[in-house]
Amino acid sequence: MSSKGHAHSSTVEVATSTNTTPTTSGKGHSGTAAAAGATTTKAAAKKKVDKNIAPTREWQVIVGILFLLLLLNLFRRYRSRHSAKKRARKTTITSGGFQGVGTSFSEKDAQDVNGGSSGKDNRERVIVEKKKQGGMVMVGRSVIATMAIWEKWMYVRTLPKWLFGWKSLSEIVWTVMYFAIALGLGMKDITLKPVNWSNQMGILAFAQTPLIVGLASKNNVISFLTGIPYQHLNYLHRASGRLAFACSWAHMAGRIQHGLRGKTDIHSMTVRHGIVAIIFLTLLSSSSLRVIRRLWYELFIVCHIVFAFLFLLFACLHYPEYIHWVWPAFLLWGLDRIVSGLRMMINSLPITITYSLTSLPRVQTKSRGTATDCIVELVDKDVLRISVPMSLPWSPGQHAFLSMPSISKWRFWEQHPHSISNLCVGPEPKAVFIVRAHKGFTGRLRDAITSDSSVVLAFVDGPYGKSPVLGGYDSIILVAGGTGITHCLSLFLHIAINQPDSHVKLIWNVRHASYIGWLAPMLNQHVASFSSKAKIIVHVTRSPLSAEFEDLHGLSDTIADGMTELWYHHDHQHHQQHVTLDKTTYNPISPTNGTSENDSGPSSENATIDEKVIPSPSSSSVLQVQTPGVNSSDEKTNTIEAEVKVAVRPESRKAFGLDEATKRLITFRPGRVNMHTVLADEVEHIEGKINVTVCGPEALSRDVREAVKTITTVKAILGGQAVVAVHEETFGW
Ligand SMILES: Cc1cc2nc3c(=O)[nH]c(=O)nc-3n(C[C@H](O)[C@H](O)[C@H](O)COP(=O)(O)OP(=O)(O)OC[C@H]3O[C@@H](n4cnc5c(N)ncnc54)[C@H](O)[C@@H]3O)c2cc1C
Repeated sequence: MSSKGHAHSSTVEVATSTNTTPTTSGKGHSGTAAAAGATTTKAAAKKKVDKNIAPTREWQVIVGILFLLLLLNLFRRYRSRHSAKKRARKTTITSGGFQGVGTSFSEKDAQDVNGGSSGKDNRERVIVEKKKQGGMVMVGRSVIATMAIWEKWMYVRTLPKWLFGWKSLSEIVWTVMYFAIALGLGMKDITLKPVNWSNQMGILAFAQTPLIVGLASKNNVISFLTGIPYQHLNYLHRASGRLAFACSWAHMAGRIQHGLRGKTDIHSMTVRHGIVAIIFLTLLSSSSLRVIRRLWYELFIVCHIVFAFLFLLFACLHYPEYIHWVWPAFLLWGLDRIVSGLRMMINSLPITITYSLTSLPRVQTKSRGTATDCIVELVDKDVLRISVPMSLPWSPGQHAFLSMPSISKWRFWEQHPHSISNLCVGPEPKAVFIVRAHKGFTGRLRDAITSDSSVVLAFVDGPYGKSPVLGGYDSIILVAGGTGITHCLSLFLHIAINQPDSHVKLIWNVRHASYIGWLAPMLNQHVASFSSKAKIIVHVTRSPLSAEFEDLHGLSDTIADGMTELWYHHDHQHHQQHVTLDKTTYNPISPTNGTSENDSGPSSENATIDEKVIPSPSSSSVLQVQTPGVNSSDEKTNTIEAEVKVAVRPESRKAFGLDEATKRLITFRPGRVNMHTVLADEVEHIEGKINVTVCGPEALSRDVREAVKTITTVKAILGGQAVVAVHEETFGW
């Protein structure tokens, strides 16, 4: 940071360089008048120069961009609502169709198209017909293709992890653009003299502070105006932080080059405060490295807040004239805290009354009044289902921060974000979270659960985040891995109930089929209202069940459905049985079942299953499934002996807690989902727009991106293929 003395000298130099300094001739004036004149002139020059060198232009551009984003946000919301209404009016064409841009596609067209031939043939025929109709259609498709390719390069492709941690190109582009705009505008009219540019660098660093703090907060104005979720703005927070860091060091380097002397001697308080400020900024930046965030998140949070506060404090002491860049940062931070506190209070207040009326027992309650009782269930070894009454309404896809004083103990700042997995319905809605237990807070919570279900004290700060706008899509594929289901489930429930014209598929990769039990209450609650276009496909990847699935590669839906009768749980009673599986149950590898021929495991010939199937006690030990296309002569000869190690929940025959109607909705499949196959099938049969939303481990997101990348080619889109948009939700910043 610049010292006062330096700032003064730099001021004059800049003024001279821009030829705006008023003349300071004292001829004809008395000594006092001359002195007063000189002071006035200096002040005027300083004022003028401050105006010149302050990065107001940068801020004007930022405000301009924000305004454009606001308009874009309003337009996007309008368009989404409009197209959802339009689609509701339109008769849906179920398969094989193609709708060219700018043309209407009648039911008769659809029938013609569907008449007996494959989707690809149909599409080609329609393309030829549409081409005959005129060039407008192709012009429209060219625009769509250009936009799709742009999205593919900017948002779908990721950079190598070693380079930018699997981030998309857009994030680098935004960061570079941010640097270019800030430096380009902020450094305009600056001379190459060290004292000159270095001071300007210091001021640029100051000017970043409102943005750094504003973009980091959960309750931020920019997010509200632009519709960009606050967590997605996080990379701009980092970009402005990096710029402040670079500018501060550049400022110091310039001052050293100029020479630390006079009022800016190394021993002066101004310089000392500046040095302390830069030390705290460096500590702040280095404690924010990804590795620290991953390994010691709590340490990162504490360091971030403490170092940020100390940096701003010493920056103000170093150069108080620029405090007007700093106090808005404190204001934004304070506002964020106040709004968070209010949210927690509103979420808690009425619920406490409800609970005191029903006299629900409290465990580990340390305070009274605004606390919220929260029910925590251990649904698997490392997975908790947490239900918390929440008064503020939430939308599907949003998340909230949980804090539990009795679990956090002295870590009063501890708050953990979790996606809300259910819909906000009923007079006293409860938000349901599905939480994987790690080593920290979530692990401590798991350890605190003494029985299957406990009641603890919790505060909810939320909801936060924005629902992805999925109203305008004809087909929505929600792909989840493990606890990533929480984000996708609420979206699925919402679409299955409120968008009856959209095809919606929830694809879930899980280790064990029994995990479907995590979702049972939410699915059972709404299944009666689901549209007929809603499907749930569970891919079982690791359990004994999945090993069996792999052996059977491409087990038909019917047998998979039978599997929902089975119960596997590590804690429950284990039974061993022998089951004979008739080979007729094999569904020869279907192109749509998400398992390719090569990775489908051993062939069905004499395959032996060691520790696998969990049959329903109500079903026969021979699982008979009719599969079209299987040679009847094979039926008698090919049977498999399977030794089954199962865990059957003794007290319940209600498979995984699912109702009959819910069970019918779910298809189990072996092995991981093959996104290439799923998407190829989808674009083959769906007209209009497709959205793939993914939430889960990095590897799953990469699979989805790869599949979308492969399928999105200029040729295919010009040929009428649906455009596939990707939305990714991550459980981290
Ligand atoms: C928007 C969002 C939604 C999420 N939704 C879910 C969900 O629905 N289900 C679920 O199981 N998990 C979810 N997570 C992740 C969840 O917040 C962390 O797993 C949890 O906070 C870990 O707490 P811990 O102290 O037990 O973790 P630790 O054992 O201390 O660390 C485990 C991992 O969690 C990260 N982590 C720790 N604390 C936080 C925090 N406060 N914020 C962000 N990351 C943190 C660490 O960096 C580390 O990578 C979500 C995260 C975000 C950002």
